[in-house]
Amino acid sequence: MKDFTLDIYRDLLETLQKQGYALISYRDYLADNCKSKKFVILRHDVDAKPENSLKTAQIEHALGAKATYYFRVGKESNNPEIIRAIAALGHEIGYHYEDMSLCDGNMDEAWSHFQIWLNYFRQYYAVETICMHGAPTSKWDSKDLWKKYDYRTLGIIGEPYMDTDFTDVFYLTDTGRCWDGYKVSVRDKIPGRQEEWTVKGLTWHTTPQLLEAINADKLPAHVMMTTHPQRWTNNKTAWLKELVFQTTKNCIKKLWIKN
Ligand SMILES: [Zn+2]
Repeated sequence: MKDFTLDIYRDLLETLQKQGYALISYRDYLADNCKSKKFVILRHDVDAKPENSLKTAQIEHALGAKATYYFRVGKESNNPEIIRAIAALGHEIGYHYEDMSLCDGNMDEAWSHFQIWLNYFRQYYAVETICMHGAPTSKWDSKDLWKKYDYRTLGIIGEPYMDTDFTDVFYLTDTGRCWDGYKVSVRDKIPGRQEEWTVKGLTWHTTPQLLEAINADKLPAHVMMTTHPQRWTNNKTAWLKELVFQTTKNCIKKLWIKN
């Protein structure tokens, strides 16, 4: 079976459900709304191609799953029609912020930029959670804004990198178009925890390998799974483009991290 298609994504969700996992939004995790012993927080970073996110949102909706979709301010992500459509399916919408990068490290400017855009997204959905966009080529870490300011003053209840108990929740991400991309990731990883998970063998490269682990009941009971819907597609040309692009990008990142 080909990896990173919508078909295998559906298979992944169905397999999780079959193993007793509730599929929940980040808001539901924070609000402790999930009564199931096993859960997977479905987090989506809509970095690009928002139309792909509508497709994963529809698949999730059909399965009775809830997810959180984080949108960026740029045109490559920010599509009001799609935001509305995903919200109408019952999913959570959040702000995928990168204000420190966009304001070139100026904290005060970034803080007002953050508020303007939070209000923008709140036109479409009562946003309660936000999530950093990793921006690997930027020298700024947008989480640094929280060294001076507090998002809670704006009614935000959580940020995955700041408010998730990663001593309890295992982290999976498709960064780098694989499930062990933390090796080449600059910011999308959980320092201090990844080492322990690796020692425990909780690391898989492909989705079929991950599916095998879920079926064998090897996945921890509490998980946050981050996916970038732009790389999940059934379209053959787009699929091949994403494969070539990500393979090249990973090679460059590997060289860059080593140096
Ligand atoms: Zn992102």
